[in-house]
Amino acid sequence: MIYTDAIVLKQIKTGEDRRILVLFTDKLGKISAASKTTYHSKSKSSAVLQPFNYGRYTLYTGKDIYNISFGEVIKSFYKIGENIEKYAYCAYVLEFTDKILAENQRDTYLFELLTDFLEIMEKRKKEYLLIVRAYEIKSLIHMGIMPQLNECVRCGNSKNCFEFSIKEGGVICESCNSNSDDKLIYNINTNIIEVIQYITNNSLKNLEKLRLEKKVLNELNDLITAYIRYHIDLSNMKSIEFLNTCLADGEKG
Ligand SMILES: [Zn+2]
Repeated sequence: MIYTDAIVLKQIKTGEDRRILVLFTDKLGKISAASKTTYHSKSKSSAVLQPFNYGRYTLYTGKDIYNISFGEVIKSFYKIGENIEKYAYCAYVLEFTDKILAENQRDTYLFELLTDFLEIMEKRKKEYLLIVRAYEIKSLIHMGIMPQLNECVRCGNSKNCFEFSIKEGGVICESCNSNSDDKLIYNINTNIIEVIQYITNNSLKNLEKLRLEKKVLNELNDLITAYIRYHIDLSNMKSIEFLNTCLADGEKG
């Protein structure tokens, strides 16, 4: 028997009362686990199988995957579902985390980061975007693929870096500036480098009260999104499509 805390990343229905869960566990990292137990949909215990749930699980090793013999809810984060935009961002972060985690590799840093993220988002009333991009920045640092921001990726010069190359992964200085029409080179118009450094040096919880001007937030959003899509394979992520639909509807409304 294994006792572990875990966050449900995904639930796959495989039969009337059978589910396969992708769990991000505290002790074993990301694993798949089957649940054969019949849970009544209205009982509290069904929450234990739902995405976002933070629970305590008793597992035993099956032939191919783990089996869940018992689970209890510690935090269901049910308030995330009360706002569609918030829900869409959180669904994206769950799927993003699922993508970047290797199976069966314990990762206490990301486990705690995801728990903090869900706690902050559950309480947060607006400006979800900043916390999502901050979560990604912290994940990039943790994976060792954070862009180089302090000095030019081409010559090492630390002054007058006004461009950012998505492909080369960092800033480019004035003298290396090739004036190319490369779509993967972004102009840096605001103080986003300082903002990214501030995000890097503070915990997610410390960022709860951070407010950014709209143009700074937009630039941060464009740059981090483009960087992640270039360096991490996010193909076939349903949550991205869902999030884009929600945001488009939000703008219309
Ligand atoms: Zn340079």
